[in-house]
Amino acid sequence: MKQSPSDLALFGGNPAFPEALHVGRPNIGDRERLLERINDLLDRRWLTNQGPYVEEFEQAIARHVGVDHCIAICNATIALEIAVRALEFTGEVIVPSFTFVATAHALQWQEITPVFCDVDRETHTIDPERVEELITPRTTGIIGVHLWGRTCDVERLDDIARAHGLRVLYDASHAFGCSHRGRPIGSFGSAEVFSFHATKFVNTFEGGAIVTNDGELADKIRLMRNFGFADYDHVIYIGTNGKMSEVAAAMGITSLESLDEFVAINHQNYLRYREVFDGLQGVRMLSYDETESCNFQYVVLEIDESEAGLTRDQLQALLWAERVMARRYFYPGCHRMEPYRTYFPNAGLQLRNTELLAERVLTLPTGTAVGHDDIATIAGIIRLAVSHSDHVRELLETRSVSTTP
Ligand SMILES: *Cc1c(COP(=O)(O)O)cnc(C)c1O
Repeated sequence: MKQSPSDLALFGGNPAFPEALHVGRPNIGDRERLLERINDLLDRRWLTNQGPYVEEFEQAIARHVGVDHCIAICNATIALEIAVRALEFTGEVIVPSFTFVATAHALQWQEITPVFCDVDRETHTIDPERVEELITPRTTGIIGVHLWGRTCDVERLDDIARAHGLRVLYDASHAFGCSHRGRPIGSFGSAEVFSFHATKFVNTFEGGAIVTNDGELADKIRLMRNFGFADYDHVIYIGTNGKMSEVAAAMGITSLESLDEFVAINHQNYLRYREVFDGLQGVRMLSYDETESCNFQYVVLEIDESEAGLTRDQLQALLWAERVMARRYFYPGCHRMEPYRTYFPNAGLQLRNTELLAERVLTLPTGTAVGHDDIATIAGIIRLAVSHSDHVRELLETRSVSTTP
Protein backbone atom coordinates (compact mmCIF):
# COMPACT_ATOMS: atom_id res chain seq x y z
CA MET A 1 0.00 0.00 0.00
CA LYS A 2 1.41 3.35 -1.01
CA GLN A 3 1.32 5.94 1.75
CA SER A 4 0.34 9.51 1.01
CA PRO A 5 1.05 12.64 3.04
CA SER A 6 -2.50 12.64 4.37
CA ASP A 7 -1.57 9.47 6.25
CA LEU A 8 0.54 11.66 8.49
CA ALA A 9 -1.56 12.45 11.53
CA LEU A 10 0.12 15.84 11.56
CA PHE A 11 -2.06 17.60 14.02
CA GLY A 12 -3.38 15.06 16.42
CA GLY A 13 -0.29 12.98 16.98
CA ASN A 14 0.43 9.60 15.49
CA PRO A 15 -1.97 6.87 16.62
CA ALA A 16 1.01 4.49 16.72
CA PHE A 17 2.33 6.56 19.62
CA PRO A 18 -0.40 7.14 22.22
CA GLU A 19 2.46 8.17 24.50
CA ALA A 20 5.28 10.39 23.26
CA LEU A 21 8.58 8.66 22.48
CA HIS A 22 11.48 10.48 24.10
CA VAL A 23 15.23 10.51 23.55
CA GLY A 24 17.02 9.30 26.67
CA ARG A 25 14.11 7.51 28.29
CA PRO A 26 15.74 5.72 31.24
CA ASN A 27 16.77 2.08 31.08
CA ILE A 28 15.74 0.30 34.25
CA GLY A 29 17.32 -2.96 35.31
CA ASP A 30 15.83 -5.72 37.48
CA ARG A 31 13.31 -3.96 39.69
CA GLU A 32 13.19 -6.77 42.29
CA ARG A 33 16.95 -6.69 42.77
CA LEU A 34 16.88 -2.90 43.08
CA LEU A 35 14.14 -3.00 45.70
CA GLU A 36 16.01 -5.70 47.66
CA ARG A 37 19.06 -3.47 47.71
CA ILE A 38 17.04 -0.46 48.80
CA ASN A 39 15.57 -2.53 51.65
CA ASP A 40 19.08 -3.58 52.59
CA LEU A 41 20.44 -0.08 52.79
CA LEU A 42 17.43 1.07 54.80
CA ASP A 43 17.96 -1.84 57.21
CA ARG A 44 21.61 -0.83 57.54
CA ARG A 45 20.64 2.83 57.96
CA TRP A 46 23.69 3.69 55.91
CA LEU A 47 22.36 6.11 53.32
CA THR A 48 25.46 7.98 52.22
CA ASN A 49 29.14 8.73 53.09
CA GLN A 50 30.97 5.98 51.22
CA GLY A 51 28.70 3.09 52.14
CA PRO A 52 29.06 -0.50 50.95
CA TYR A 53 27.05 0.02 47.76
CA VAL A 54 29.19 2.98 46.67
CA GLU A 55 32.30 0.86 47.34
CA GLU A 56 30.86 -2.01 45.33
CA PHE A 57 29.83 0.30 42.48
CA GLU A 58 33.27 1.94 42.33
CA GLN A 59 34.99 -1.44 42.19
CA ALA A 60 32.64 -2.67 39.48
CA ILE A 61 33.28 0.40 37.31
CA ALA A 62 37.06 0.25 37.83
CA ARG A 63 37.06 -3.46 36.90
CA HIS A 64 34.84 -2.87 33.91
CA VAL A 65 37.08 -0.21 32.37
CA GLY A 66 40.36 -1.64 33.65
CA VAL A 67 41.58 1.32 35.71
CA ASP A 68 43.11 1.46 39.18
CA HIS A 69 40.82 4.08 40.66
CA CYS A 70 37.16 4.99 40.38
CA ILE A 71 35.66 7.77 42.48
CA ALA A 72 31.87 7.86 42.35
CA ILE A 73 30.41 11.38 42.32
CA CYS A 74 26.88 12.79 42.72
CA ASN A 75 26.76 13.78 39.02
CA ALA A 76 29.11 14.25 36.09
CA THR A 77 29.03 18.05 36.19
CA ILE A 78 30.42 18.11 39.74
CA ALA A 79 32.80 15.32 38.69
CA LEU A 80 34.13 17.54 35.88
CA GLU A 81 34.48 20.47 38.27
CA ILE A 82 36.38 18.37 40.79
CA ALA A 83 38.61 16.85 38.10
CA VAL A 84 39.37 20.29 36.63
CA ARG A 85 40.39 21.54 40.07
CA ALA A 86 42.35 18.42 40.99
CA LEU A 87 44.30 18.71 37.72
CA GLU A 88 45.07 22.34 38.65
CA PHE A 89 43.71 23.76 35.44
CA THR A 90 43.80 27.58 35.46
CA GLY A 91 43.76 30.37 32.85
CA GLU A 92 42.52 28.80 29.62
CA VAL A 93 41.41 25.29 28.77
CA ILE A 94 40.67 24.14 25.22
CA VAL A 95 37.32 22.43 24.86
CA PRO A 96 34.86 21.68 22.05
CA SER A 97 31.75 23.84 21.75
CA PHE A 98 29.78 20.95 20.27
CA THR A 99 29.01 19.25 23.60
CA PHE A 100 26.57 19.45 26.47
CA VAL A 101 26.98 22.84 28.13
CA ALA A 102 28.16 21.28 31.42
CA THR A 103 31.58 20.63 29.85
CA ALA A 104 32.14 24.39 29.42
CA HIS A 105 30.35 25.38 32.64
CA ALA A 106 32.66 23.14 34.72
CA LEU A 107 35.46 25.51 33.68
CA GLN A 108 33.69 28.87 33.76
CA TRP A 109 32.20 28.03 37.19
CA GLN A 110 35.74 28.28 38.56
CA GLU A 111 36.64 31.25 36.38
CA ILE A 112 38.73 29.28 33.94
CA THR A 113 38.20 30.41 30.35
CA PRO A 114 36.86 27.73 28.02
CA VAL A 115 38.55 28.26 24.65
CA PHE A 116 36.19 26.73 22.12
CA CYS A 117 37.71 24.49 19.50
CA ASP A 118 36.03 23.21 16.36
CA VAL A 119 35.22 19.54 15.90
CA ASP A 120 36.10 17.22 13.04
CA ARG A 121 33.39 17.18 10.38
CA GLU A 122 33.22 13.37 10.30
CA THR A 123 33.91 12.24 13.86
CA HIS A 124 32.19 15.16 15.67
CA THR A 125 35.05 15.12 18.23
CA ILE A 126 37.59 17.87 18.96
CA ASP A 127 39.91 18.47 15.99
CA PRO A 128 43.56 18.11 17.15
CA GLU A 129 44.68 20.18 14.15
CA ARG A 130 42.77 23.14 15.54
CA VAL A 131 43.74 22.51 19.16
CA GLU A 132 47.35 23.39 18.43
CA GLU A 133 46.37 26.76 16.94
CA LEU A 134 44.55 27.71 20.14
CA ILE A 135 47.36 27.09 22.60
CA THR A 136 48.61 30.28 24.32
CA PRO A 137 50.90 30.88 27.31
CA ARG A 138 47.75 30.81 29.48
CA THR A 139 46.63 27.35 28.32
CA THR A 140 46.84 24.67 31.03
CA GLY A 141 44.77 21.83 29.66
CA ILE A 142 42.53 20.22 27.08
CA ILE A 143 39.14 18.63 27.65
CA GLY A 144 38.15 16.17 24.93
CA VAL A 145 34.60 14.86 24.73
CA HIS A 146 34.03 11.33 23.38
CA LEU A 147 30.85 12.50 21.70
CA TRP A 148 28.19 9.85 21.04
CA GLY A 149 30.62 7.31 22.55
CA ARG A 150 33.05 7.78 19.65
CA THR A 151 36.60 8.26 20.87
CA CYS A 152 38.54 11.49 20.42
CA ASP A 153 41.84 11.26 18.57
CA VAL A 154 43.52 10.37 21.87
CA GLU A 155 46.92 9.67 20.32
CA ARG A 156 47.20 13.08 18.65
CA LEU A 157 45.85 14.89 21.70
CA ASP A 158 48.37 13.06 23.86
CA ASP A 159 51.23 14.14 21.58
CA ILE A 160 50.09 17.77 21.56
CA ALA A 161 49.64 17.81 25.33
CA ARG A 162 53.07 16.31 25.91
CA ALA A 163 54.74 18.77 23.52
CA HIS A 164 53.18 21.75 25.33
CA GLY A 165 53.22 20.51 28.92
CA LEU A 166 49.42 20.29 29.15
CA ARG A 167 47.17 17.74 30.80
CA VAL A 168 44.19 16.13 29.13
CA LEU A 169 40.86 15.39 30.78
CA TYR A 170 38.15 13.48 28.94
CA ASP A 171 34.45 14.05 29.32
CA ALA A 172 33.43 10.43 28.72
CA SER A 173 29.79 11.03 29.68
CA HIS A 174 28.67 9.25 26.50
CA ALA A 175 31.33 6.59 26.41
CA PHE A 176 30.92 4.14 29.26
CA GLY A 177 31.25 0.64 27.76
CA CYS A 178 33.07 1.88 24.63
CA SER A 179 36.62 1.06 23.55
CA HIS A 180 39.39 2.50 21.40
CA ARG A 181 41.74 0.03 19.67
CA GLY A 182 40.41 -2.58 22.04
CA ARG A 183 41.22 -0.56 25.15
CA PRO A 184 38.20 0.56 27.19
CA ILE A 185 37.46 4.27 27.47
CA GLY A 186 38.39 5.30 31.01
CA SER A 187 42.16 5.05 30.98
CA PHE A 188 42.99 7.81 28.49
CA GLY A 189 44.43 11.19 29.44
CA SER A 190 45.03 12.09 33.09
CA ALA A 191 41.47 11.18 34.04
CA GLU A 192 38.08 10.54 32.47
CA VAL A 193 34.59 11.40 33.67
CA PHE A 194 31.48 9.25 33.19
CA SER A 195 27.88 10.36 33.61
CA PHE A 196 25.25 8.06 35.04
CA HIS A 197 22.42 10.56 34.67
CA ALA A 198 18.96 9.05 34.11
CA THR A 199 19.17 9.79 30.37
CA LYS A 200 22.46 7.91 29.94
CA PHE A 201 22.20 4.21 29.08
CA VAL A 202 23.54 3.12 32.49
CA ASN A 203 22.13 5.28 35.23
CA THR A 204 22.21 5.89 38.98
CA PHE A 205 19.23 8.33 38.81
CA GLU A 206 21.80 11.15 39.10
CA GLY A 207 25.46 10.24 39.19
CA GLY A 208 28.91 10.25 37.72
CA ALA A 209 32.42 8.99 38.30
CA ILE A 210 36.03 9.99 37.78
CA VAL A 211 38.38 7.21 36.71
CA THR A 212 42.16 7.39 36.61
CA ASN A 213 45.33 5.35 36.94
CA ASP A 214 47.03 8.19 38.85
CA GLY A 215 46.95 7.27 42.56
CA GLU A 216 47.95 10.70 43.80
CA LEU A 217 45.27 12.37 41.71
CA ALA A 218 42.70 9.85 42.95
CA ASP A 219 43.55 10.63 46.60
CA LYS A 220 43.16 14.33 45.96
CA ILE A 221 39.82 13.79 44.24
CA ARG A 222 38.55 11.67 47.14
CA LEU A 223 39.39 14.47 49.56
CA MET A 224 37.75 17.09 47.35
CA ARG A 225 34.59 14.98 47.06
CA ASN A 226 34.17 15.04 50.85
CA PHE A 227 34.86 18.67 51.92
CA GLY A 228 38.58 17.89 52.26
CA PHE A 229 38.05 15.63 55.30
CA ALA A 230 41.00 13.29 55.82
CA ASP A 231 39.23 11.80 58.85
CA TYR A 232 36.93 12.99 61.64
CA ASP A 233 37.47 16.69 62.44
CA HIS A 234 40.48 16.83 60.16
CA VAL A 235 40.21 18.93 57.01
CA ILE A 236 43.40 19.13 54.98
CA TYR A 237 42.18 20.51 51.66
CA ILE A 238 39.48 22.66 50.11
CA GLY A 239 36.62 20.44 49.04
CA THR A 240 32.99 20.29 48.12
CA ASN A 241 30.19 17.77 48.53
CA GLY A 242 30.41 15.44 45.55
CA LYS A 243 29.37 12.23 47.26
CA MET A 244 27.18 9.62 45.64
CA SER A 245 24.37 8.28 47.82
CA GLU A 246 23.79 4.59 48.58
CA VAL A 247 20.47 4.52 46.78
CA ALA A 248 22.16 5.89 43.65
CA ALA A 249 24.89 3.26 43.88
CA ALA A 250 22.27 0.53 44.39
CA MET A 251 20.65 1.66 41.15
CA GLY A 252 24.08 1.69 39.50
CA ILE A 253 24.95 -1.86 40.55
CA THR A 254 21.54 -3.02 39.37
CA SER A 255 21.97 -1.20 36.04
CA LEU A 256 25.38 -2.81 35.54
CA GLU A 257 23.84 -6.27 35.92
CA SER A 258 21.74 -5.43 32.83
CA LEU A 259 24.52 -3.70 30.93
CA ASP A 260 24.88 -6.42 28.28
CA GLU A 261 21.15 -6.46 27.70
CA PHE A 262 20.99 -2.63 27.37
CA VAL A 263 23.84 -2.66 24.86
CA ALA A 264 22.30 -5.54 22.90
CA ILE A 265 18.99 -3.70 22.61
CA ASN A 266 20.71 -0.44 21.61
CA HIS A 267 22.72 -2.37 19.04
CA GLN A 268 19.64 -4.06 17.59
CA ASN A 269 17.87 -0.69 17.43
CA TYR A 270 20.88 0.87 15.74
CA LEU A 271 21.01 -1.88 13.10
CA ARG A 272 17.29 -1.56 12.53
CA TYR A 273 17.54 2.22 12.10
CA ARG A 274 20.41 1.76 9.65
CA GLU A 275 18.35 -0.64 7.63
CA VAL A 276 15.28 1.59 7.45
CA PHE A 277 17.25 4.73 6.57
CA ASP A 278 19.38 3.04 3.96
CA GLY A 279 19.48 5.07 0.76
CA LEU A 280 17.24 7.86 2.05
CA GLN A 281 18.26 11.14 0.37
CA GLY A 282 19.50 13.88 2.68
CA VAL A 283 19.28 11.75 5.82
CA ARG A 284 22.67 10.51 6.89
CA MET A 285 22.92 8.30 9.94
CA LEU A 286 26.07 8.41 12.00
CA SER A 287 27.83 5.05 12.18
CA TYR A 288 29.81 3.32 14.88
CA ASP A 289 32.94 1.24 14.47
CA GLU A 290 31.65 -2.25 15.09
CA THR A 291 35.13 -3.66 15.60
CA GLU A 292 35.18 -1.76 18.91
CA SER A 293 33.01 -2.12 22.00
CA CYS A 294 30.26 0.41 21.70
CA ASN A 295 27.17 1.26 23.74
CA PHE A 296 25.13 2.46 20.72
CA GLN A 297 23.21 4.78 23.04
CA TYR A 298 22.70 7.55 20.48
CA VAL A 299 21.00 7.34 17.11
CA VAL A 300 22.24 10.46 15.33
CA LEU A 301 21.07 11.84 12.00
CA GLU A 302 22.53 14.63 9.94
CA ILE A 303 19.86 16.28 7.83
CA ASP A 304 21.06 17.94 4.63
CA GLU A 305 18.35 20.38 3.59
CA SER A 306 19.52 20.59 -0.01
CA GLU A 307 18.88 16.87 -0.49
CA ALA A 308 16.07 16.20 1.99
CA GLY A 309 14.01 19.22 0.92
CA LEU A 310 13.40 19.94 4.60
CA THR A 311 15.51 21.56 7.26
CA ARG A 312 16.39 19.63 10.39
CA ASP A 313 14.06 21.96 12.32
CA GLN A 314 11.17 21.32 9.93
CA LEU A 315 11.69 17.60 10.29
CA GLN A 316 11.84 17.93 14.06
CA ALA A 317 8.59 19.95 14.13
CA LEU A 318 6.92 17.25 12.09
CA LEU A 319 8.23 14.46 14.33
CA TRP A 320 7.12 16.30 17.47
CA ALA A 321 3.65 16.68 16.02
CA GLU A 322 3.70 12.90 15.59
CA ARG A 323 4.81 12.52 19.22
CA VAL A 324 8.34 11.47 18.35
CA MET A 325 10.40 13.80 20.50
CA ALA A 326 13.59 13.85 18.41
CA ARG A 327 16.22 16.22 19.83
CA ARG A 328 18.66 18.78 18.40
CA TYR A 329 21.74 17.75 20.44
CA PHE A 330 23.90 20.02 20.98
CA TYR A 331 22.11 22.98 19.48
CA PRO A 332 23.11 25.80 19.22
CA GLY A 333 26.61 24.95 20.54
CA CYS A 334 28.03 26.21 23.86
CA HIS A 335 29.50 29.31 22.20
CA ARG A 336 26.00 30.51 21.37
CA MET A 337 24.75 30.06 24.93
CA GLU A 338 25.27 32.44 27.83
CA PRO A 339 27.58 33.57 29.22
CA TYR A 340 29.80 32.50 26.32
CA ARG A 341 27.97 34.29 23.52
CA THR A 342 28.47 37.57 25.39
CA TYR A 343 32.11 36.85 26.23
CA PHE A 344 33.02 35.55 22.77
CA PRO A 345 30.57 37.05 20.26
CA ASN A 346 32.74 36.08 17.28
CA ALA A 347 33.60 32.54 18.34
CA GLY A 348 31.40 31.10 15.61
CA LEU A 349 33.74 32.34 12.89
CA GLN A 350 36.28 29.74 14.00
CA LEU A 351 33.71 27.00 14.54
CA ARG A 352 32.52 26.13 11.04
CA ASN A 353 31.90 22.43 11.60
CA THR A 354 30.28 23.03 14.98
CA GLU A 355 27.84 25.51 13.44
CA LEU A 356 27.10 23.19 10.54
CA LEU A 357 26.45 20.21 12.80
CA ALA A 358 24.38 22.30 15.23
CA GLU A 359 22.08 23.05 12.27
CA ARG A 360 21.92 19.46 11.02
CA VAL A 361 22.04 16.98 13.88
CA LEU A 362 18.90 15.28 15.10
CA THR A 363 18.90 12.41 17.61
CA LEU A 364 16.19 9.78 17.68
CA PRO A 365 14.75 7.69 20.53
CA THR A 366 16.38 4.36 21.31
CA GLY A 367 17.02 2.22 24.39
CA THR A 368 14.85 -0.38 26.07
CA ALA A 369 11.72 1.78 25.78
CA VAL A 370 11.82 1.64 21.95
CA GLY A 371 10.76 -1.40 19.90
CA HIS A 372 11.39 -2.40 16.30
CA ASP A 373 7.85 -1.43 15.30
CA ASP A 374 8.43 2.05 16.74
CA ILE A 375 11.56 2.37 14.61
CA ALA A 376 9.71 1.30 11.48
CA THR A 377 7.02 3.90 12.20
CA ILE A 378 9.55 6.67 12.89
CA ALA A 379 11.43 5.85 9.70
CA GLY A 380 8.12 5.71 7.82
CA ILE A 381 7.28 9.23 8.96
CA ILE A 382 10.70 10.55 7.93
CA ARG A 383 10.67 8.73 4.59
CA LEU A 384 7.22 10.02 3.78
CA ALA A 385 8.14 13.56 4.87
CA VAL A 386 11.25 13.60 2.67
CA SER A 387 9.48 12.13 -0.34
CA HIS A 388 6.72 14.75 -0.05
CA SER A 389 8.83 17.60 1.28
CA ASP A 390 7.01 20.34 -0.69
CA HIS A 391 3.72 19.30 0.77
CA VAL A 392 5.13 19.02 4.30
CA ARG A 393 6.72 22.48 4.12
CA GLU A 394 3.41 23.91 3.03
CA LEU A 395 1.60 22.20 5.90
CA LEU A 396 4.14 23.43 8.42
CA GLU A 397 3.92 26.98 7.08
CA THR A 398 0.17 27.28 6.78
CA ARG A 399 -1.03 25.47 9.87
CA SER A 400 0.26 25.77 13.36
CA VAL A 401 1.73 22.45 14.35
CA SER A 402 1.92 21.88 18.08
CA THR A 403 5.50 21.12 18.98
CA THR A 404 5.23 20.96 22.73
CA PRO A 405 6.20 17.65 24.29
C1 LIG B 1 25.20 14.23 30.43
C2 LIG B 1 26.43 14.98 30.14
C3 LIG B 1 27.11 15.72 31.12
C4 LIG B 1 26.56 16.01 32.48
O1 LIG B 1 26.22 14.90 33.20
P1 LIG B 1 25.38 15.03 34.54
O2 LIG B 1 25.63 13.71 35.19
O3 LIG B 1 23.95 15.23 34.14
O4 LIG B 1 25.90 16.17 35.35
C5 LIG B 1 28.34 16.29 30.79
N1 LIG B 1 28.84 16.19 29.56
C6 LIG B 1 28.20 15.52 28.58
C7 LIG B 1 28.84 15.41 27.23
C8 LIG B 1 26.96 14.92 28.83
O5 LIG B 1 26.31 14.30 27.84
